Amino acid sequence: MRDVIVIGAGGGGPVAAKELAARGLDVLVLEGGPHYTDPENQWSRYENDANNILDGYFRVGPSERFDKPAWFRELPQNSFLWQLAGVGGTTQHYYGNNPRAMPGVFTGYDGPDRDAYDSAHRFPFTYREMIPYFEWVEATLPVQTAAMGTKESVYFRGAEGIGLPVNTTKDVTRDSFRPQENAILQPGGNAGTTSDPQQLLYPNATGCTFCGYCFQGCFEPRRAPRNLKAKRSTDNSYVPMMLTADRWAPGGRPVTLIADAYVTRIHTEQRDGETVAGGVTWRDTRSGDEHTEDAEVVIMAGGCTEDPRLWLNSGLPNPNGWVGRGYTDHFFDWVVGVFDEYTGNSAGVGSSARCDYPGRGGLEQVGLPPALQGFSMGLSASGVRGYYDNGRGPTGPWDGKAGRPVGPELKEMLADIDRLVNILVLTDDDVEPDNRVVRSAFPADSNGPIPKVIFNGRNRSRRTQRNREFLASEAARLLRAAGATKVIRLDWAPLLLHVQSSMRMGISEDDSVLDETAEARFVKRLYVADNAALANSLGGPNPTLTSQALATRTAEKIFQKYFGGDAFVGRESPMSSIDDRVTEGVLAAR
Ligand SMILES: Cc1cc2nc3c(=O)[nH]c(=O)nc-3n(C[C@H](O)[C@H](O)[C@H](O)COP(=O)(O)OP(=O)(O)OC[C@H]3O[C@@H](n4cnc5c(N)ncnc54)[C@H](O)[C@@H]3O)c2cc1C
Repeated sequence: MRDVIVIGAGGGGPVAAKELAARGLDVLVLEGGPHYTDPENQWSRYENDANNILDGYFRVGPSERFDKPAWFRELPQNSFLWQLAGVGGTTQHYYGNNPRAMPGVFTGYDGPDRDAYDSAHRFPFTYREMIPYFEWVEATLPVQTAAMGTKESVYFRGAEGIGLPVNTTKDVTRDSFRPQENAILQPGGNAGTTSDPQQLLYPNATGCTFCGYCFQGCFEPRRAPRNLKAKRSTDNSYVPMMLTADRWAPGGRPVTLIADAYVTRIHTEQRDGETVAGGVTWRDTRSGDEHTEDAEVVIMAGGCTEDPRLWLNSGLPNPNGWVGRGYTDHFFDWVVGVFDEYTGNSAGVGSSARCDYPGRGGLEQVGLPPALQGFSMGLSASGVRGYYDNGRGPTGPWDGKAGRPVGPELKEMLADIDRLVNILVLTDDDVEPDNRVVRSAFPADSNGPIPKVIFNGRNRSRRTQRNREFLASEAARLLRAAGATKVIRLDWAPLLLHVQSSMRMGISEDDSVLDETAEARFVKRLYVADNAALANSLGGPNPTLTSQALATRTAEKIFQKYFGGDAFVGRESPMSSIDDRVTEGVLAAR
């Protein structure tokens, strides 16, 4: 019998696991995808090698990427779901942007913008209560002000040009712009000063080497121990910490991590009239063998799509019907400016500059390498613009109708991607019950019935649509103020990569799966510690910091309620994942 089983080693799972292991609990982490232990030799700079959704090393599927198919998920609308399987989960892809959620999405907020948010679905506790958990994760990862380059100076010129003030705090209460708060280590030594690979080896280079390939998984600087790689995806931060908890935490115990271990069922029993979780069945995805494990507490951290799937496949109770509902995605859009000058779009930290609009969402500048730049310009809900204009896209301060460029226009734009600046629109979107995960009628895969992810397409709430139109216009104005000679808006179809709140915590029992401690309302000893637990779309900021802060709080609640422990956040000092004690542990574990 384990103390705790954590399902999934992505953005959230390793956070809860590390905190509980540091306090001496016996924690087992089961991850359905692969564990890349030698990324310098297993990953590459070839974009298709990494990102091909069928056989890329970053896909949703089992380890044997050329021998076994990817795991299929049904998407019944024009959309794209971007999640990864493997230790590190989708943070292997992520850009490390770590802004805090906006204060206005928490209960008790009383600022002038208080009515501008999805006020029916706030967090069931206050922003003030959340701050120590934000600080804890910011110190652990660590989060720093992002390293910047040419594309950021172009972006800031535009932000100033449309009259936005700069924000110098981590808290957002007014329209403003700022450098990203980012979990990518600042360049040190030769990093950022040369592209000569020999000069960029650790320890002559530390932190971000400005390679421009955050998307492909971070293995820079080469020869650095895993916990000193620049990007703080959990495979480089919380996972090394959880595996070495006995070395740096007094009384700590290392986590047992099993990769290629897909949990297909959560077991429950009836105790004193309540349904209580007590263990799991997992499948070795290589051999097909099944195993069972028991635990005092089970934590789901399989992400927004797989948590509801596992819940439904396990036949767990769902009396209010909210399992899988309320899936938010920041209803992204994409606005691209063409410049006469060098912008450095493909170089450096992927995204280091943003604007925030309380109650509406935000904008962030996003740099991309060539194939992804092409991909980003091919997804549209409005069809084709320009040369073969089919006349459907909305008009606004961008050129012509929104839609995807094709033919000569696309060729011209992609001819020199270092003259482009991309802006991602992050809409503060409403929790809507019809955006949801259900079980698909397609055949099951080897892990059971598969998920179907339903999005309402363009048919979102009025507030969501208003926010998105406002932000797309702001993005176009910003690019013009920065000097763009041409601005296009893609009007993206749902691109689901900021996925949130499909097993949401909430104030009301009628529209939430989790209570205010993230324990399932209808299954005791079962918790959720990933993006699915979030109460809403956070006002627009990227979700991972808030998920990780919440997972820290959840670990503390579990430690107190089921293991007789004390609160630790606020009493102890957090330790950084780049501490030498973790480095030594990682080196020794090799
Ligand atoms: C291109 C890209 C860029 C991004 N950039 C940012 C950014 O800059 N900032 C930010 O905040 N967010 C960013 N995100 C989003 C970020 O990656 C997610 O917020 C984060 O990874 C979510 O963590 P999670 O634990 O909910 O899910 P995941 O990270 O997806 O992890 C879930 C894990 O659980 C495993 N799993 C699922 N089901 C099971 C099961 N039944 N048994 C065993 N294992 C299971 C999966 O294989 C996976 O490894 C980005 C995402 C993408 C795709």
